[in-house]
Amino acid sequence: MSIDLHCHSTVSDGALTPAEVVLRASANGCTLLALTDHDHTGGLAAAHAQAKQSGITLINGAEISVSWRGRTIHIVGLNISPEDEVLQTLLGRLRSGRLQRLQAIADKLAKKGISDAYEGTLALATNIDMVTRTHIADFLVRSGHVNKKADAFRKYLGDGKSCSVKHQWAELAEVVTAIRHAGGIAVIAHPMRYELSATARRNLFSDFKACGGEAIEVHSGRSNLNDRLNYALLAQQFDFLASCGSDFHRDGDFGGGLLGCCPELPPICKPVWDHLAD
Ligand code: AMP
Ligand code: MN
Ligand code: MN
Ligand code: MN
Repeated sequence: MSIDLHCHSTVSDGALTPAEVVLRASANGCTLLALTDHDHTGGLAAAHAQAKQSGITLINGAEISVSWRGRTIHIVGLNISPEDEVLQTLLGRLRSGRLQRLQAIADKLAKKGISDAYEGTLALATNIDMVTRTHIADFLVRSGHVNKKADAFRKYLGDGKSCSVKHQWAELAEVVTAIRHAGGIAVIAHPMRYELSATARRNLFSDFKACGGEAIEVHSGRSNLNDRLNYALLAQQFDFLASCGSDFHRDGDFGGGLLGCCPELPPICKPVWDHLAD
């Protein structure tokens, strides 16, 4: 049994279409998959159609952008109803904010002599309704300003870098409430990636718990055994369910694991999939 509860398609910043994501995960032996595009549920219908053909169980998901105490945190919603209006209103607001951010980043890039980033990025976005920094990085590579996407983040787009823009995403409580309203379970995505002090991490976990958050990813991408043991213990302390996800975007990507494949969770974990209805 192979389970992957976090991955991306062309509906956000992934390279495979939703159907291709399901096909690939299934070919890799996955039996339970959640598609969790950033701030969007538009890939779920096509993913379900393919999942039916491939004989794999697909969970409705989304990875939602949150600003928490000045930092960007990602919250995965699992088992959400895509029809939920509260959730869709929130996601729509996050996406329109992304276009404003793109403009602000393009203005900064223009001051560095890089013109047309707004139009150039939109022309490359796989979904014009969902523009991410990955697409801006793609524009910077294709227009010859950097050699590879990682350099675009290192030089221009990474947090605190020369063309980064502080953006206000949704509030943590609003996101958790919307996920619950849509019948879902809220999960802190890749907690090992935020570079939080032990105190800040406790604060995040407590705030998340207080507003109804129920799970954390104990494994993400290429986490090592040490990470998994640490976060399994934290999940136990906070009485969180444990999730796991490849965070796959494309082959050879930064941080992402093999689509559809996650290592087993430490035995002390209470798996979130025991709480996901078919
Ligand atoms: P956004 O939500 O538009 O800020 O874009 C964030 C996305 O950019 C993440 O979901 C990652 O897929 C990607 N990303 C963030 N940091 C890096 C990095 N250093 N190198 C490559 N991709 C990154
Ligand atoms: Mn991404
Ligand atoms: Mn993320
Ligand atoms: Mn992700």
